[in-house]
Amino acid sequence: MRVIRRADRGAAVVEIQAILAGQGLLPPAVAGAAFEDAVFDEAVERAVRAFQQSRGLTADGEVNEETWRALDAARWQLGSRVLSYSRPEPMFGDDVRQLQERLLELGYDLGRADGIFGPGTSAALARFQREVGLVPDGACGPQTMNALRRLGRKVTGGRPMLLRETERFRAAGPALVDKRIVIDPGHGGGDAGVAVVDGALRWTEADIAYDIAARLEGRLAAAGMRVHLTRGPSPREPFPDLDRAALANELGADLLISLHLDGHPNATASGVAAYYYGHYGDGGVSSTLGERFAGLVQREIVSRTGLRDCHIHAKSWDLLRVTRMPAVRVEPGYLTSPADRERLVDPLFRDRVVEAIVAAVQRMYIPIEADVPTGSIDVSDLRARVGQAIA
Ligand SMILES: [Zn+2]
Repeated sequence: MRVIRRADRGAAVVEIQAILAGQGLLPPAVAGAAFEDAVFDEAVERAVRAFQQSRGLTADGEVNEETWRALDAARWQLGSRVLSYSRPEPMFGDDVRQLQERLLELGYDLGRADGIFGPGTSAALARFQREVGLVPDGACGPQTMNALRRLGRKVTGGRPMLLRETERFRAAGPALVDKRIVIDPGHGGGDAGVAVVDGALRWTEADIAYDIAARLEGRLAAAGMRVHLTRGPSPREPFPDLDRAALANELGADLLISLHLDGHPNATASGVAAYYYGHYGDGGVSSTLGERFAGLVQREIVSRTGLRDCHIHAKSWDLLRVTRMPAVRVEPGYLTSPADRERLVDPLFRDRVVEAIVAAVQRMYIPIEADVPTGSIDVSDLRARVGQAIA
């Protein structure tokens, strides 16, 4: 397709505006403009960048084929249409991905939640339908939606494909005592990361990431883990990600969590996203345990803080690529979003982010078939409670 960019006009621009408005990134009035008035102006470009940012795409403000596919997918929410396997053009959309994630949470093996309704998704859905007493036609209509809603978050299972990979974690047992985790507060040493001046105050990503890291260190150490931070509160020099990864490898860490915040020129960009190692394309590889860790961190944060869900994304950044243990980089909020910033500067909110991460770390060590619903782990007395629950 032709790239649609600044100053373009026409039907495609009207459609892009409508989808961006549906995502809350453009005011509806702009989207409702008459066909001949629709222009890909600065506001549309900003909204496209914000959308790209939230999907882990290169945020260049232009609608190329990859961005168009993501926009096209974003118009569908689970329940807004009947989903089924169709050939040769399979159905594709955010609703398909939401269905796949739900089935994966319930323990149905369909591989990766890629947003494409293929034969694997249809087969997994048919198994689910059979088990809840519906006609196993492998299509998701109103009855199947009702069954999925009824189950709510009560039932969780696991992803069979992960069982083998998680054997080492299972063998290590559910207790956090003596497990080794590296916490990596991003930036520092003259590199502030995202910085925002708000009246007389200046907030930096480096400082807030360090504060969250220090709180997390306290909670995990109290649960008996061996915790290492990659840097102190005000290091003298920057510490490149490759060196941070090497340090985690040398320490023989079992897990790594890197803490950053997001920032964007468009103040409406907001929410939490988590990243794990992977790259797409034919024969693309990814860290399955890293993906599970990122998914747990993401779901616990969304559930416990209400931050907007910007999903998990595969990235090939140095820190994720070079580390040998499951590693996740989480960005719980945009420092450039007034709403997110108001929460991030509140220590109580940062504590909730920390509790979410602690719960995710604990869930990494619970055998998948004994996994518990998101938001249900009480992290206030982890050593005792989780020990009892598993025993
Ligand atoms: Zn950063």
